[in-house]
Order: sequence, then C-alpha cells, then structure tokens
Amino acid sequence: MEKRGDCPERTEIPLRIAVIGGGIGGLTAALSLRQAGFEVDVYEQAPELTQIGGGINMGPNAMRILRRLGLAAGLDREGVRPLFTHQRCWRDGRTLQRAPLNPLCEELYGAPHMTLHRADLLDVIASGFPAERIHLGHRLTGLADHGGSTEAWFENGARITADILVGADGIHSAVRASLFGEESPVFAGCVAYRGLVPAERIADLGLEIGSQSWVGPGAHFVHYFVSRGRLLNFVGWTEHDEWNREDWTDRATVARALAAFEGWHPQVRRIIAEADTCFIWALFDRDPLPRWSVSRTTLLGDACHPMYPFMGQGAAQAIEDGAALAACLVTAGNADPAAAVRRYEQHRLPRVTRLQDMSRANKTRFHMRDGPAQEARDAEWGRAGDRSPDALRWLYAHDAGAIEPLV
Ligand SMILES: Cc1cc2nc3c(=O)[nH]c(=O)nc-3n(C[C@H](O)[C@H](O)[C@H](O)COP(=O)(O)OP(=O)(O)OC[C@H]3O[C@@H](n4cnc5c(N)ncnc54)[C@H](O)[C@@H]3O)c2cc1C
Repeated sequence: MEKRGDCPERTEIPLRIAVIGGGIGGLTAALSLRQAGFEVDVYEQAPELTQIGGGINMGPNAMRILRRLGLAAGLDREGVRPLFTHQRCWRDGRTLQRAPLNPLCEELYGAPHMTLHRADLLDVIASGFPAERIHLGHRLTGLADHGGSTEAWFENGARITADILVGADGIHSAVRASLFGEESPVFAGCVAYRGLVPAERIADLGLEIGSQSWVGPGAHFVHYFVSRGRLLNFVGWTEHDEWNREDWTDRATVARALAAFEGWHPQVRRIIAEADTCFIWALFDRDPLPRWSVSRTTLLGDACHPMYPFMGQGAAQAIEDGAALAACLVTAGNADPAAAVRRYEQHRLPRVTRLQDMSRANKTRFHMRDGPAQEARDAEWGRAGDRSPDALRWLYAHDAGAIEPLV
C-alpha cells in the first residue's frame, strides 16, 4: 500500500458502515471511509468486481481524492496523461477549440487529468481495500431502518446490520427504490457505440496523446488513449427516439457503427473500422432527486445523481461523494450519524445538480445541425474555450473532502 491520506485520528468505537455496490463510486467511498477510521464492508451483487465499457476520464477534482487515498503509483502506472482536449468539426476536422490539460492541471489544481481503462481504475482502487471485506455475490433485495441501525438482506439469504448504510448500487439502485419507491429511469434518447483499438493499428494517424471530441449533427465522437497508451478508446454517441434492448443488441457491430457515422471525417471512420468489435450502450437518466437520505441510509453516485456523460464527471462526482461523506461523518463524531448524513447530502446536492443540468445542456450543444446556431456555438468556442482547465476552476479546484466543522 502506498502513502495513506491524512485522516483525522478517531478515538471512538468505529461506526460500522455497509456500502452496497462495488463500482467505482462504492469502492472509493469504502476506501475513504475506512481510511477515516470506520469499519467498512462492501456488498456487491456480481461474482467478481467488473466494469463494463472501455475508458474513462478522470478530472483533477477526482484525481486529487484518489491520490490522497494512496493510489497515485497505480494510477500513474495504468493511466495516460492527455496533453490536450481538442474539439473538432465532424465533417472537415477543423479545430473548434483546443486547450492544454497536462501538465497545466497539476500546476493549477495539484493533480493531473487522466484517462484510464475502467477495469484498470477499479483494480487500482480495489488494491487499497481489504479483499476479505468485499462480499461478492451479495445482491441486496431489501432493507429496514431501525432508528439506531439499518438492517439489509440479500438474495443469497445473508442478513446484516450496520450503523450506516450507503447505496452505491448504480442507476437501477435497489437502495434508492427501498427509500423512495420504484421509479424506472428514462431513456435519454442517445446510444453509444464503444470500442477499443490497439494503438499500433492506428499508429500512422499520428494521434496526439490527447482527448479529441468530434461534434456533428445529432451525434458526437470521442477518443483518447488508455491502458498505458496501448489502446485507443472510442465512444460514438448518436440520437434515437427509442430503446428496445432486444432490437438493439444485434446492432452493435463495427459495420453498424460505421453506418451511424457515415459522412464523418476519415479519421473517425478509420478508428471505428480498426476495432475488432464494438458494443452498444443506451443512456438512461433520472431527474435530480430532492433528497438522498432517510435516517442513517443514504445514496451516492449514479444511485442518486446519474448524469449524461457529456461533462465526463459521473464517476468523478461519485468519488467526490465518498470523500464528502467520510469528512461529514468524521466531523460529526459518533453522536448523530443521521445528522452527518443529512449534512453530506446538503453539501453535495447543489454541485451535482449543476453538473446534471450542464451535462444535459451539452447534448444539445454537441449535437447541433449545421446552421446559424452551430456557427454561433463554434464562434463562441473559438473566442473562449469552455473546456480549458482555467474555465473549469469551479469544478476542478473544489475539494469535496473539505467540510467545515459545525460551530
Ligand atoms: C459511455 C460513458 C462514458 C462515461 N464517461 C465518464 C467519464 O469520462 N468520466 C466520469 O467521471 N464518468 C463517466 N461516465 C459516468 C460513470 O461511468 C458513472 O457515473 C459511474 O460509473 C457511476 O459509478 P457508481 O459506482 O455510482 O455506479 P456503477 O458503476 O453503476 O456501480 C454500481 C455497482 O453496484 C452493483 N449493484 C447494483 N445493484 C446491486 C444490488 N442490488 N446489490 C448489490 N450490488 C448491486 C453493480 O453490480 C455495480 O458494481 C460515463 C458513462 C458512460 C455510460
């Protein structure tokens, strides 16, 4: 294990915290809470820790937290530091905006911006948490609040009691449904074709070590390197009225993806064509929740604030949630965990709601048809890039673990 975060000393009997869900949000929260001195167990439905999909962007706001948790060496080993973020026109490839990412992010915000394979990121996070406290094959089916504790039960027959229960079980959260009732997420009108291309196959393109986004009518296409630079990750988003899983699953072929990006710049089409396979992902969404917690049970990550990935901040915000929850619980001591949980929720809600709104707005901005509105957008991006680390100070400089003590 590498250097640990600077956690305050705790002298009380540690509270027992159950985290439901071993995704990026749940595992990072578990690590934050454990390093803050709590007794933490993770309950994950899957028989092993897995992450579906290819790459993920980690902004400096999340990277700072992961590094404080002692994960810097693993992240540096597995990840890539993009030099630039570059937005381009779908058809002719002209630059709409281009901004430096590294080393500027580290200079401004004390942590780099990185791109990683999701499985690598999850492995690095898991390496910091004791494996024997991750209970695989535990699918939560119900819970009950008993005032001073929360009881939870699982499909495999196991039952547990915890002082605090955290639902980090994703957009279809069973914890959320237990707290606030069943309500299906809504199809957001977008599907993504996702794939990974070995770097040597596209070496002749001379791609910069950066993140490129191509924007066009009703679609956009993003690519960046992951896995120590060995793979190029791509995601091509297209708009659709309906999602029907059975109807769509057989469309996830390279040929389908190429058809979806017909007429796009040759670089985009070449990258798609070099993938052996690609798969499809439908985007679902929920409206912002007015509250996340009931008594000693709360939520984090996609369980309470799923967002369109068009700010690249869904997982980053889940990571921030864990740091903020740990800080609120430490600050409050054992006296009133429910009050600490409420404080966590109040602290986090405005920030993630802002990001949910911005991410939604980006769907419209990225997918404009060619015409006057698109020209106005391009001119605005040309004047003042909205993706530069300077312009995102409110997002990247925020320290989610800095919670003022109550007076
Ligand atoms: C194409 C795409 C690109 C993205 N790009 C980015 C990006 O660049 N940067 C970024 O920050 N975010 C990005 N996101 C968003 C990000 O992936 C999510 O916000 C993030 O993974 C949510 O993490 P989570 O831990 O909250 O939920 P999840 O990753 O969904 O994890 C939930 C976990 O809970 C488990 N679980 C579910 N139900 C139960 C149950 N009943 N009992 C026990 N366990 C259960 C699941 O098996 C899973 O392991 C992107 C999303 C998409 C779709």
